[in-house]
Amino acid sequence: MRIMKFGGTSLGNAERISHVAGLIAKNNDCMVVCSAMSGVTNMLVDISSLWNSGRIREAEDLVGILRNLFLETCLELFKGTQPVQPLTVSVNNHFDVVRNRLKREHNLNEENWLLAQGEIITTEIIASYLNATGIEITWLNALDFMRTGPDNEPSVNDIRDRLSHILGDKPRGRFLTQGYICLDHEGNTSNLKRGGSDYTATLAGAALHAEIIEIWTDIDGVRNNDPRFVDGTFPIRELSFDEAAELAYFGAKILHPSCVWPASTNSIPIQLKNTMEPDAPGTMISSGRNRKGITAVAAKEGITVIRIRSDRMLNAYGFLNQIFSIFEKYKTPIDVITTSEVAVSVTIDNPRYLSDIEAELAGIGTVLIETGQAIVCVVGDVLERHHDRAVKILDSVKDFNVKMISFGGSRNNITIVVPEEQRKDILRSLNSLLFNNQSKSVIHG
Ligand code: ADP
Ligand code: ASP
Ligand code: MG
Repeated sequence: MRIMKFGGTSLGNAERISHVAGLIAKNNDCMVVCSAMSGVTNMLVDISSLWNSGRIREAEDLVGILRNLFLETCLELFKGTQPVQPLTVSVNNHFDVVRNRLKREHNLNEENWLLAQGEIITTEIIASYLNATGIEITWLNALDFMRTGPDNEPSVNDIRDRLSHILGDKPRGRFLTQGYICLDHEGNTSNLKRGGSDYTATLAGAALHAEIIEIWTDIDGVRNNDPRFVDGTFPIRELSFDEAAELAYFGAKILHPSCVWPASTNSIPIQLKNTMEPDAPGTMISSGRNRKGITAVAAKEGITVIRIRSDRMLNAYGFLNQIFSIFEKYKTPIDVITTSEVAVSVTIDNPRYLSDIEAELAGIGTVLIETGQAIVCVVGDVLERHHDRAVKILDSVKDFNVKMISFGGSRNNITIVVPEEQRKDILRSLNSLLFNNQSKSVIHG
């Protein structure tokens, strides 16, 4: 069994969907995981915020625009060759339900229900098209098997049990399901956070003991730097699970931050492929060794720095424990940490409980909060050549407003925190330092 995940950009319009159908047709045993068509989840987020602020007419107008986008895609896809009416009736019914739902009071459960509709309608259209063109595929409702537990984390064993209940122990054939969406432990519709279809794909891959997880997107592989901000990036042909996890977690948008562990703990390779250039090699992520030298640079925005200062820390023990237990209480992971004798600085990327955390930390010491920061992460063998490389990296960032530096946690990364507005420049600056001679070439393992 092969997992094939197609992101929104691969499903941007009817032409792309029919191209994807051709790729799916080549495999007889596959679980296809699809995101919503490109731009749809963003529009649903907008509808939700209009709904939340009581601007129902505007929300309804946007629902109308989305309805037309889907209907036009159906008409274009079927282009009169197949009867499209049953599908357009179903899409119309679906949007009637969405529109009616706006009469209810907005809350988080309603929002999550709304956000799930993009993937549900998109996969319904793709399954109808595939079956109408003779590519047999079974549509599966991800809400029947993709669940998170009380800690909001999915469990591979639980997903495996549910899938084998639906498909039997040795499923064969083609299946199509929605990425991103799931049920929470109380049975409410929820999701795996933005970009979560990658995570669905690796979870399904682990649950089904897939031989490979293919992530099809709009670019040829993971690149050495963020191609949205830096010119002349190049593909990395082979990555270890550790390197990929680090890059995903610290901002390489091509992969969802959590999507590597289900594949790595089950030793299933992930291959990144370019939908528009299916024969290009892309990137293979597997349990290979980390390479020599620097692999890549990535940046993650929306970071909050929290500094806690207290003279009581001098020569005392138990302080870090007190601090960490507050973050644990509010289920807020810490990403970067630096300490001095009288102060601790940490970063978080989820500010949901920031004011509660701040209030409790205030009982320990003076608290200073800085929002709008970015983490820039250099991944690779930063200790190569007796620290020479690390010294150069640190030297190259001296003109930036560096807030924190984390170095020495492992030999595989240096993490630098700067204000968000400096992240593009620091990515460019690190690019010329680390990859100048390699641009337009390709890194092999
Ligand atoms: P999909 O819709 O297929 O999930 P995404 O937009 O989520 O696609 O991810 C692909 C995009 O990630 C690329 O188009 C690229 O702009 C961006 N990206 C950011 N960092 C990297 C990187 N290091 N390598 C490749 N792509 C990256
Ligand atoms: N459609 C969702 C999003 O835009 C999930 C995904 O694309 O992976 O975030
Ligand atoms: Mg994505």
